[in-house]
Amino acid sequence: MLDGSGRLLAVRRRFRIRTYGCQMNVHDSEKVANLLLHAGWEEAPSEDAAELLVINTCSVRAKAENKLYSDLGALRAWKKAEAGRLLAVGGCVAQQEGDPLLRRFPHLDFVFGTHNLRWVPAMADAAARGHREARTSQSDSPASALERFDLPERHPAYRSQTPGRAFLTVMEGCDMFCSFCIVPTTRGREVSRPAPRVLEEARELADRGVCELTLLGQTVNAYGRHDLRRGRAEEAATLAFGELLARLADIPGIERIRYTSPHPLFFDAALVRAHGELPELCPHVHLPLQSGSDAVLRAMRRRYGADDYRRWADRLREARPDLAITTDLIVGFPGETDADFRLTLELVQEIGFVDSYSFKYSARPGTAAHQLDAKPVDGTTAQARLEELQTLQRSLTLAAHRKRVGGQTEVLIEGPSRRDGALGPQLQGRDPYHRVVNLSGAHLPPRGPGAADEGRGIGEIVRVEIVEATPHSLIGEPLGRGADRHSGLKHTGRMADEEGRREALP
Ligand code: SF4
Repeated sequence: MLDGSGRLLAVRRRFRIRTYGCQMNVHDSEKVANLLLHAGWEEAPSEDAAELLVINTCSVRAKAENKLYSDLGALRAWKKAEAGRLLAVGGCVAQQEGDPLLRRFPHLDFVFGTHNLRWVPAMADAAARGHREARTSQSDSPASALERFDLPERHPAYRSQTPGRAFLTVMEGCDMFCSFCIVPTTRGREVSRPAPRVLEEARELADRGVCELTLLGQTVNAYGRHDLRRGRAEEAATLAFGELLARLADIPGIERIRYTSPHPLFFDAALVRAHGELPELCPHVHLPLQSGSDAVLRAMRRRYGADDYRRWADRLREARPDLAITTDLIVGFPGETDADFRLTLELVQEIGFVDSYSFKYSARPGTAAHQLDAKPVDGTTAQARLEELQTLQRSLTLAAHRKRVGGQTEVLIEGPSRRDGALGPQLQGRDPYHRVVNLSGAHLPPRGPGAADEGRGIGEIVRVEIVEATPHSLIGEPLGRGADRHSGLKHTGRMADEEGRREALP
């Protein structure tokens, strides 16, 4: 707010961020929160208490994009309720739409693209002075492309959603151009972060008590590939992805490493071997399949066939026999016949995915599939295929969960469970296989002012015995605290899918 002479009034500066989309977006929101804290903003306890509301958007499916437009309509009332409130939009829709968003929604104050996070505090200040702006430039040169990774360390007031766990960006962008996907446009070309910076951030995180890292990238296992191929890995200070994993695993305090989302094409021998050799690497791989039909995979420009996928899954399981494999699937891609869909069902059954994220094809303007001549699959057929696929997946997930009953695992406690026990909300966390485990008999003390996470067990790893399996989670009884670094048990990203769960990166 301005005083009569145009100076900014000293008002409380509190922000909230609403996040849609994949784990990269969740982490981008964390980065924006950290930048705002460094600029003197505080996190508001609710949107009603905030002076700045940022919506971090997703455009990978039409449904997610439409959600932004309905949110923005509804937020007219929020903006009007108090003078000086600021409303901002970031993420993939912001990147794609830019300026027209400001024209379409006059109550929107600023728009920032996926490469422009670091400008958010300055844009908020400018917006408070009445300057509405959209910044969506994408960096082309390798040097300026890397600037987006140079963000300040975590602010002392920064609180991660799950103590003990953190995201770590190793690369961004995608050069694969699958025909259905808008990400190469919204996130730009592949850029890998120098390994020394990745390792330095990982050490900082470990010093702050983080024991589980999730490495992020649109095609995370393509890390460093262009530098290696062009013979400039030394100059760019990048490594092969398998080597990066080994260096991260050597950092004291790092107990678990995950990565999302890989592309099947980049599972080279070193990465497969890493799954057999690094106890810190969780026995879970999210290996996006998309379709079991070679014809559909070709039309999707996935650059592999069903047999290639079978071979990758086999090799990974040879290296790590207890590996849990999850996947992404699209039904109703233009031209998909019933026979194509049956091939998907067969491959899903054959691989025995522990879980999958499945969606109906969503046409995205600007993608190659949007211009395909192939006959679109009608909505009723696509819905029926989705339901059939999800019914199969539920039975596979339940079967996989049932096999775990009686075994032991280690759970990094994330917080209260959605399930209520007799004594109140239970705790829940994830095990090395990325399964949700609800802890029976472990309850949060009643919430009260100043209740700290410490002492509740949140952020700690506990050993549990699995006593029950449900279609969505496991139920475990805690046996004790702490991970045995070499037990082999300590091994441990995503948009809401059409069953409402958060999905990995596209
Ligand atoms: S689906 Fe993944 S690999 Fe394909 S273009 Fe999108 S981000 Fe890239």
